[in-house]
Amino acid sequence: MFDKILVANRGEIALRVIRAAREMGIQTVAVHSTADADAMHVRMADESVCIGPPPSTESYLSIPSIIAACEVTGAQAIHPGYGFLSENANFVQIVEDHDLTFIGPTAEHIRVMGDKITAKDTMKALGVPCVPGSEGGVASLDEAKKLGEEIGYPVIIKATAGGGGRGMKVARNASEMESAYMTARSEGKAAFGNPDVYIEKYLSTPRHIEIQVFGDGKGRAVHLGERDCSLQRRHQKVFEEAPGPCITEEERARIGKVCADAVAKIDYAGAGTIEFLYENGEFFFIEMNTRLQVEHPVTEAIFGVDLVQEQIRVAEGLPMSFTQDDLKIIGHAIEVRITAEKLPDFAPRPGRITQFHAPGGLGVRMDSALYDGYSIPPYYDSLIAKLIVHGQDRRGALTRLNRALGELIVDGIDTTVPLFHALLQEEAIQTGNYNIHWLEHWLETNLQA
Ligand code: ADP
Repeated sequence: MFDKILVANRGEIALRVIRAAREMGIQTVAVHSTADADAMHVRMADESVCIGPPPSTESYLSIPSIIAACEVTGAQAIHPGYGFLSENANFVQIVEDHDLTFIGPTAEHIRVMGDKITAKDTMKALGVPCVPGSEGGVASLDEAKKLGEEIGYPVIIKATAGGGGRGMKVARNASEMESAYMTARSEGKAAFGNPDVYIEKYLSTPRHIEIQVFGDGKGRAVHLGERDCSLQRRHQKVFEEAPGPCITEEERARIGKVCADAVAKIDYAGAGTIEFLYENGEFFFIEMNTRLQVEHPVTEAIFGVDLVQEQIRVAEGLPMSFTQDDLKIIGHAIEVRITAEKLPDFAPRPGRITQFHAPGGLGVRMDSALYDGYSIPPYYDSLIAKLIVHGQDRRGALTRLNRALGELIVDGIDTTVPLFHALLQEEAIQTGNYNIHWLEHWLETNLQA
């Protein structure tokens, strides 16, 4: 059993991990940049270590500093949260080389799934349905053009190393192929150091449905149903719900089993998310995230489990605390991602919080590192709070979300809270009838400056 773990992250996810560890009787070490000396995760952890200056490349991404912080404090394991080093196979290798435990999957699984081409090949071989497209990478513009004709336009050109919605370009016809191919390559190279791209059929009106899986690293795995994350802006999720409003129990059981079997077969350890596009009753794999997701709380709400404690258990070599048969869905949960951004153009708005009041009451969870008087530093992600509500059914969850948003006070900065107030009035949100393009269209027509 671990006595002490280090949390290699900041903000709400660092608090999330600290809370889980504390309930397990495990001490926590926070790491922070000089810009985060007053941050809530530093205050809440048992110990803290300053690991560098504000830029994350010199602090939260500094592997030597994080390893040194473990050595100084005697932490035996590292929880990476999401983002930062959470999907860095090299980091995992170094952690293991220092006889520390990485709370997450193996370096090899991270490597395979971190490259979208090898991820897709692996999933295909494991029987997971994939988006039709190129076999592996596409080496030249000529090949891309040929594939465009074969697959049929529109197609999407994707950087194999891409992430966070970057390195993807749609070609609607042959004449758009050259610029889409070149742009995806150069974005992949600039942002991720890898120009390799592949091509997929572009699905016109899919939903984004992802399956939460969990493995013990020893050939056993379960699924915890799906999350619908179709409400996206620039391919980034802003509103997530579970279960998916359009997924039937039979579909869930079927695709869930395919995913659980796939990760069991590769001895996957810990939490993972298998992402699909879903159109006309069919699932198409797009990528696997080998970490805890931002939106994991909606799954926790409907299954009544603590995914972070489960990650820690499995990293300690213990068996999972539930089997597939134990996992039953109760009610419906929704998460909204509140960012420090000003509408209508979502311009980042860091600054000082003059007043903060988190909503509460039955079925309301607020994951946030804000407090009265806190100054949001300008260096990091603009996510400031995740508001998660759980209701008896979808309608109950929506009503509760409306009530909870009404209680929330964040003064001193601009936030995206007004967006959610407005969205709750929309019929498509009330009925659950939306796809991955709905929000972009809605923003264009409703939020013009
Ligand atoms: P990232 O790693 O950057 O998040 P993903 O492969 O997960 O990239 O894709 C992110 C989003 O891009 C999806 O949720 C979807 O909105 C869109 N997308 C990706 N692939 C396709 C496709 N083949 N057809 C249509 N939309 C797609």
